[in-house]
Amino acid sequence: MQVADNMAVSIHYTLTNDEGEVIDSSIGNEPLVYLHGNGNIISGLEQALLGKSVGEQFTVRIAAADAYGELMQDRVQVIPREMFEGVDVLEVGMQFHADVSEGPGVVTIVAINGDEVTIDGNHPLAGVPLTFDIEVLEIRPASAEEMDHGHVHGPNGHHH
Ligand code: ZN
Repeated sequence: MQVADNMAVSIHYTLTNDEGEVIDSSIGNEPLVYLHGNGNIISGLEQALLGKSVGEQFTVRIAAADAYGELMQDRVQVIPREMFEGVDVLEVGMQFHADVSEGPGVVTIVAINGDEVTIDGNHPLAGVPLTFDIEVLEIRPASAEEMDHGHVHGPNGHHH
């Protein structure tokens, strides 16, 4: 069986940046289970997994555009401190949920200068090419219900 649309695919992954720093890994934890062809994982990784078989291991480097996107300068904005009504202490690095141009997202305070607060609505991994070490553990056809929901159920999947 090979990875294809509407297959439930179980993988172990280790994610590193170009400096070789590990950003995230499933090794030592539960594997990641996703529904192929439904945008559950970043597009570049989905493309790399297509046609792979159980037991295959591979490494793929994915450009930022096919991962979490390029850094968008227009997502960095300076706003007045009074926009943070009800927040007593503002610090660089604090994150807030906010409605940004792309819809709801997370913004991070990157600078504070008097009453001016600079926020960045880019994903923390925007602009970062990512290298994945992948091992394919399991592939099975998704159930009709999973295809309907667009995600995997059961162990390591959605519970609801
Ligand atoms: Zn569901």
